[in-house]
Amino acid sequence: MRVLAGLTLVAAACLYAQTDDPAVIQAKTEIERLRKLVDAGAAPRLQLEKAEAALGDAEDSAFLRKTLYGQDLTESQADDMVAAAARRFERRKKAYDDAKKLVDMGAASSLSLDTYVQDMDMARKECDLADARAKLTHEIAGMAQTEEWFTVRMATAPTEAHAIAERFDGDGVFSMATFSHVESAFEDKFGRPLPVSAMGETAVHRALGFDHRGRVDVALNPDAPEGAWLRAYLTANRIPFFAFRQAVPGKATGAHIHIGPMSTRLANGG
Ligand SMILES: [Zn+2]
Repeated sequence: MRVLAGLTLVAAACLYAQTDDPAVIQAKTEIERLRKLVDAGAAPRLQLEKAEAALGDAEDSAFLRKTLYGQDLTESQADDMVAAAARRFERRKKAYDDAKKLVDMGAASSLSLDTYVQDMDMARKECDLADARAKLTHEIAGMAQTEEWFTVRMATAPTEAHAIAERFDGDGVFSMATFSHVESAFEDKFGRPLPVSAMGETAVHRALGFDHRGRVDVALNPDAPEGAWLRAYLTANRIPFFAFRQAVPGKATGAHIHIGPMSTRLANGG
């Protein structure tokens, strides 16, 4: 999450709404120009088709800039992001394959392939980044859904709810000042940052209609050594937490430690 926060800052400078993206506007202008020429019989239709493909690519690129490096995501945005990265890779692979044919026929030098290989490598890295970001989004969603499952169970079947999460109310208060002590204590103990997966509310929580403001999720299994240490620290300092040991059925991930009181429904539902 710290890495993502850094990426978010880097990307803020190059963040465009899709319609304002200069490359998209340029591609649309080019299509208009070519369409007139094609209609007038002054340009081949193939050229227009190429321009339309370039527009699709520019739109995918603008979407990736927004999602890969920008705001936090819902699960469906994360899936769209992975699909956009895959389309960008496929276009570059096709361009490479076409160029390779010319080389194989002896119509071009093999040196001419370098640019295509570089473009393909860049697109592959973009795919890897999209996959990693989507995986994290699905993990955050798994944890959020586990919390939602728990709150529903608390209301309908309290005995079962106890099996989903260990609850510690402490003195009932949790603030960001308290959290900075938790972070430092963890870092002093383990020499690495506390693995925070959701700091306050996220797009995933908003999509669920879940008020996660002022709460923090930590991606630690409560029974692993670091998770056990964190539970002991929170207990000793009377900081409220919920330790989740299992995932909502159908979700791969869910185990985590939620610090703060349990989330409530957002006032406007969800
Ligand atoms: Zn939580």
